Amino acid sequence: MSWPEAKEYFSKNDIAIIPVGSNEQHGPQNPLGTDHFIAKAIAEEAAKRAGVVCLQVIPFGVSAHHRHFWGTISISSGTLKNYVKEVCLALGDYGVRKIVIVNGHGGNLNALDELARELREKGIFVSVFQWWTAAKNLLPDFFKPEERQHASAEETSVNLALYPHLVDMSKAVDETTSKHPMEGAGLFLPLETADYSLSGVWGKSTTASAEKGRKVFETVVDELVRHINKLRNAKTGELSSKSKV
Ligand SMILES: [Zn+2]
Repeated sequence: MSWPEAKEYFSKNDIAIIPVGSNEQHGPQNPLGTDHFIAKAIAEEAAKRAGVVCLQVIPFGVSAHHRHFWGTISISSGTLKNYVKEVCLALGDYGVRKIVIVNGHGGNLNALDELARELREKGIFVSVFQWWTAAKNLLPDFFKPEERQHASAEETSVNLALYPHLVDMSKAVDETTSKHPMEGAGLFLPLETADYSLSGVWGKSTTASAEKGRKVFETVVDELVRHINKLRNAKTGELSSKSKV
């Protein structure tokens, strides 16, 4: 898009999509870029179908818990929050008041939730869409619980559907994650992936297929398009921060 095209778009539309991901280990079979590759593909396809603009993917996220596996590049939660927030504020300068962040990595959620709450105060409504949560709701029996974890069958299947040349299924493994001796009811522990897993895969990844991945992709893109259309048609009053009761 050139700047005159951007001017044309933003003078008529107050909505934009931003994919955000991470660069972190996804087992021996998947590329490090999995979370930003998938977020980008889902965001771009949904934006195309809904006729709204999709920004460039922000590739790095909050992944320090994966750093023992080589090639993981992590940034702090505060850095991610400020970076994405400033991108949203720059869009706000052109009249954007509705933003959908397509988040490819669960570790980013706290930072994105915080910035969304801060931006609502400033009159910009940010929603965060997570494809695996949507898939679990919409296709509850499509994968077993052990296939719906980090780098397991569900995520590997979406990769196979979108980027088959980047996945090496001959290296896929199934790994039952180990229990840490400090685990117990009601506890939150500062544990990292290396405490649980040797391969980086949580659960079962060998049952992945491109066909399953296409089903997940189509299902979550449809859902995201529905959300984009609903948000686009929402009145500002429905979205603005509430005044004191
Ligand atoms: Zn992932």
